Amino acid sequence: MVNEHRARKRFGQNFLHNPGIIDRIIAAVNPGKTDYLIEIGPGQGALTDKLVDHCCHLDVIEIDRDLAAVFQQRYADKENFTLHTADVLKFDFASLPLNEKPYKVIGNLPYNISTPLIFRLLSCKHLFSEMLFMLQLEVVDRMSAGPGSKSYGRLSIMTQYHCKVEKLFSVPPTAFKPQPKVDSAIVRLVPWAEPPFPAKDPAMLETVVRTAFSQRRKTLQNSLKTLLDKSLLQALSIDGTRRPETLSLAEYVSISNALGEDHL
Ligand code: SAM
Repeated sequence: MVNEHRARKRFGQNFLHNPGIIDRIIAAVNPGKTDYLIEIGPGQGALTDKLVDHCCHLDVIEIDRDLAAVFQQRYADKENFTLHTADVLKFDFASLPLNEKPYKVIGNLPYNISTPLIFRLLSCKHLFSEMLFMLQLEVVDRMSAGPGSKSYGRLSIMTQYHCKVEKLFSVPPTAFKPQPKVDSAIVRLVPWAEPPFPAKDPAMLETVVRTAFSQRRKTLQNSLKTLLDKSLLQALSIDGTRRPETLSLAEYVSISNALGEDHL
């Protein structure tokens, strides 16, 4: 699309150029004529070109003004296309029109902003029916990890609290230009209509999990001592000498619920 564009490292630009991988991603998105899509970081349009003609409406958010200018021209005659030249970390998703269907979000995400972006999207997940992302393989492994695994932590628990997490397939560096140094993977996040383990106060759950994992090597009762007394863990039949990475999502929710909303 923009042959002369030089990939900008600061914007995490690794453009997809493998047609087989692009087709697999599009098949996973499965865009339909009644779908409202949001693409984050369309770049040179590897996915965008295949999305715009197969959906009801496509919003794209691109930080790079040079790339945005190309889209502005290229899709000037497309009525179902809206370009937002913006930093997605500052973008107000609630400002988008509410349609008869929630949005599907797609993005081959810049790796340097993926974790803060995921937390931002989770905070307005009611706007989305699903999110399909290309991320660093290691990040996808963290999102989908269960208790006891090295990758298990705050990102696993908070993503799984809000969404069903499905790792779809891995993508090698050779699928991109320029090639990244790490493997990537596609993940699908589907927000739960009702979380399987509802927290009375999700902000409290976030606080408990962040505090527990701030000192991963400490026992639970040590790392959580600013928030609770170990008797509360005993009352919940949770051994306070366990490490934070051994507790399930359900156990974190039970701690958060026991602490109550007015503790914050
Ligand atoms: N979707 C394209 C593809 O698959 O080839 C490009 C993917 S590239 C890994 C990431 C894209 O996100 C780039 O176009 C980059 O300019 C854009 N980007 C980086 N940081 C961004 C931000 N904070 N807000 C919006 N877009 C951003």
